[in-house]
Amino acid sequence: ASKEQGKSHYNFYDNRQDDAKEAQLSLKTNMNRALERGEFQLYYQPQVNLLNQKVMGMEALIRWHNKELGNVRPDIFIPLAERTGLIFKIDEWVLFEACRQLREWIDAGYQPVPIAVNVSGKQFRSQRIIETIDDALHKYRISSDLLVIEITEGALMHDEKSEQVLNELKRRGISIHLDDFGTGYSSLSYLKRYPIDTIKIDRSFIQEVNADERDAKITTAIIHLAQTLGLEVIAEGVEDAEQIRFLKQKNAVYAQGYYFEKPLPAPEMEHLYLVDE
Ligand code: C2E
Ligand code: MG
Ligand code: MG
Ligand code: MG
Repeated sequence: ASKEQGKSHYNFYDNRQDDAKEAQLSLKTNMNRALERGEFQLYYQPQVNLLNQKVMGMEALIRWHNKELGNVRPDIFIPLAERTGLIFKIDEWVLFEACRQLREWIDAGYQPVPIAVNVSGKQFRSQRIIETIDDALHKYRISSDLLVIEITEGALMHDEKSEQVLNELKRRGISIHLDDFGTGYSSLSYLKRYPIDTIKIDRSFIQEVNADERDAKITTAIIHLAQTLGLEVIAEGVEDAEQIRFLKQKNAVYAQGYYFEKPLPAPEMEHLYLVDE
């Protein structure tokens, strides 16, 4: 009997693995066709100046809707795209689409607001990233101070390549945001070595900033660190007024989160937040 049990347990486990594999395969197959099928879309989330409530920038966040799979979160497909290599094409699409949208808004007579684009670490260490950015800015006649590159702390590396790319961006006047700050490693040496403009305090510290003393202290320390080094800070994932109060008390200037707005499709972003020139 124990042998039977063992066997059925094994079968059950095996089936689940097969299901997982199948799901992964379907995700991969569909993702490979998503670009040509036009299934990706950019949403935009405002980044707000707490001193005057003005929108200082917006972050472009990719969305994928597939007929078979429905909406797939970037947390799921971006890591997979990094493993399969499709991330190069996706990041390229995002850069061009963000610049295209900016041009559309400028032509429609809106005051341009800088767009922050997330770039994956893999993409970041290739020389192609600089060429892609140059091509996108040139194609849509976008001035380089309207483009911001967000790179996560965890994706950066201590190598010549990362340093080269960051310096090239800097030389063009493109701002660099260090994303998810505090969750990676070697953060302090990045701040010493690289021309970072802005630190984005990771959502995980902001979430409990009024309930957890340690999160409060870490958040305060990051804000002070940035101020001492002459860097800007954006608090990520701000959801309530208490968090805003905390940040203001610490003289943090910028915040982003559901408290202000969720990521929005371009027409809603335009309607709610863009101002005529
Ligand atoms: P991220 O760059 O740190 O983006 C912030 C994430 O937090 C977004 O999730 C955003 O929707 C979410 N968020 C914003 N405010 C709040 C809030 O108040 N509460 C909570 N709970 N969440 C909030 P999203 O859009 O699902 O993206 C997840 C991650 O996927 C991003 O983290 C980024 O690392 C990656 N990603 C998104 N779009 C792109 C892209 O175009 N290219 C690349 N390479 N990565 C992307
Ligand atoms: Mg980001
Ligand atoms: Mg982040
Ligand atoms: Mg993140």
